[in-house]
Amino acid sequence: MKEASQLRDALLALTKDVAEYALYLRELGVEGLESSQTAAAPLIERASAPALKTSESAPKLSDALRRNAQAEAVKAQEMIKTLPPPIPGGALRSGGLSPASPDQTEMAKKPVRRPAAEPPAPRETLFGEITPQDELSLPRPGETIEDIRADIGECMRCPLCQSRTTVVNSDGNSKARLMFVGEAPGADEDAQGKPFVGRAGQLLNKIIEAIGMKREDVFIGNVNRCRPPQNRTPTAAEAATCKPFLLREIAVVKPEIIVVLGNTAMKNLLDTKEGITKLRGHFQDYRGIKVMPTFHPAYLLRDPSKKREAWDDMKKVRDYLNRNQPGK
Ligand code: URA
Repeated sequence: MKEASQLRDALLALTKDVAEYALYLRELGVEGLESSQTAAAPLIERASAPALKTSESAPKLSDALRRNAQAEAVKAQEMIKTLPPPIPGGALRSGGLSPASPDQTEMAKKPVRRPAAEPPAPRETLFGEITPQDELSLPRPGETIEDIRADIGECMRCPLCQSRTTVVNSDGNSKARLMFVGEAPGADEDAQGKPFVGRAGQLLNKIIEAIGMKREDVFIGNVNRCRPPQNRTPTAAEAATCKPFLLREIAVVKPEIIVVLGNTAMKNLLDTKEGITKLRGHFQDYRGIKVMPTFHPAYLLRDPSKKREAWDDMKKVRDYLNRNQPGK
């Protein structure tokens, strides 16, 4: 009976271990329950195998005990299934760490280490919980859009500098109430050095006019300022390198609303795993600023039937700005 209780204790410890590991994977943003289960399965197998082997070689251990051990292993797997759904953005929020960056999300897909028994000591940072990556995004006191542009210079910080012709800086009214954020320049923008000047840009101009504004009234930027080869989506590392400049510009302009155009812009500004189809039309928040996700104009050119939904989203933006006119 002593053997049976030892086996039971070992399996209970294993159950806890597996559940903690699955939770850890989730907190890192590893998508889907399956991956946690897949990752946990070898653990269960490894730990239950010696127990079962012992049970086979120990004549005192009855079939009933063996069955009991197997039932415990099944219970461990069932317990993983009952864990809460993945935390959006994969952030270890309650632990006080900063939200997961796209890089961290990438990292989460790679094999991960098991958590240390003790939680890691809080990192020393300049401003409490702000990590070094966030510090790059902090506005320098009193800085202007021109200061940020000077800081960017003829940027060589990421591999996109090799394929671009021009760094395409943000453009428009630095006191704008409304800001648009896209993904990265295309061929026309790369040639002219201005964001949204190609076909998608012309559609964006029409969208701006449809809500009673002019392009000169708004501020327009991209997550990445250099054109990716073949207009591919910027990698997480490329976006993470360029994004701090955009965030500093947002801090300077202080728009009342930011319209994020398409998935890449939305995911880079908001800490979310949701797609644009789900979030479009619903105001979100970025550091106290209202954010409206909507379809990218290039997508609207490919599928004009989606213009109706984009229009619904833009009406919400227009109505909010009209309701909240300064001095009203
Ligand atoms: N698409 C974007 O996302 N940005 C541009 O500047 C042009 C096209």
